[in-house]
Amino acid sequence: MDEEFFEDLEEVLISADVGVSTVMELIEELEMEVKRKNIKDTQEVKQVISEKLVEIYQGADELDDNVALNIQDNDLTVILFVGVNGVGKTTTIGKLAYQLKSEGKEVLLTAGDTFRAGAIEQLNEWGGKRVGVDVIKHSEGSDPAAVIYDGIQAAKSRRADVLLCDTAGRLQNKVNLMNELSKVKRVIEREVPNAPHEVLLVLDATTGQNALIQAKTFSQTTDVSGIVLTKLDGTAKGGIVLAIRKELGIPVKLIGLGEKVTDLQIFDPHAFVYGLFA
Ligand code: GDP
Repeated sequence: MDEEFFEDLEEVLISADVGVSTVMELIEELEMEVKRKNIKDTQEVKQVISEKLVEIYQGADELDDNVALNIQDNDLTVILFVGVNGVGKTTTIGKLAYQLKSEGKEVLLTAGDTFRAGAIEQLNEWGGKRVGVDVIKHSEGSDPAAVIYDGIQAAKSRRADVLLCDTAGRLQNKVNLMNELSKVKRVIEREVPNAPHEVLLVLDATTGQNALIQAKTFSQTTDVSGIVLTKLDGTAKGGIVLAIRKELGIPVKLIGLGEKVTDLQIFDPHAFVYGLFA
């Protein structure tokens, strides 16, 4: 195991968006461990790094991340989706609706992005046409909290199992958006006990360090319970979620691996960290 091996590894991890300081620390520890244990096999070294990366991801509390979403057995589950435009919110809602429907659940969608032109129609396209679930919607420009309120009433009267709520993602006017999200969240809290059961922040793996900034912004107002990391089917590795986990304690719950309804998976930290340098 020469110097070049560690340098290559360092480069691979940095380009996978694992932060520079984390990578430096990791490589230093690794070099010492390799010397101490006299490890010669590169496969074995990779095993050691992946264990260390999982440790970084899980932190001292070793939370069990490989869990499904917090879905209620006999009551309505409300899931709020947040994230900036273009990260894959609508697509993810469609995929999750498909998955839940396949499990026999009655799913309803709410078009809470009343701001972006075409957002309501796009959700309708995914929900109604592709997956075959109903979408509760108002017209463009209407109050998102009112749409979500109607979605909740519809879900209650139809005895739906899961309500998936889309929201706006314009960051041009951050304060305005955060106020809007807080209001939406208050309506959900008021109308459904213990809801929202999940607040999922959708992040695009290809945006690198920006994802951390977005996670900080959204977690300030909405108590994000989990991350959906999209677009992992491309070249992006999404190593930034290690920093997000380390700094903000937010776990990744789902990953997006393409544009088809079936391209959504439960996050597995072990497989993920292996993918960072595979
Ligand atoms: P939104 O603005 O957050 O609702 O984002 P959209 O759901 O409209 O997605 C933006 C673009 O990203 C669309 O072209 C999607 O097809 C694409 N997209 C979403 N998720 C994935 C994914 O996991 N992989 C790939 N390759 N593309 C994705």
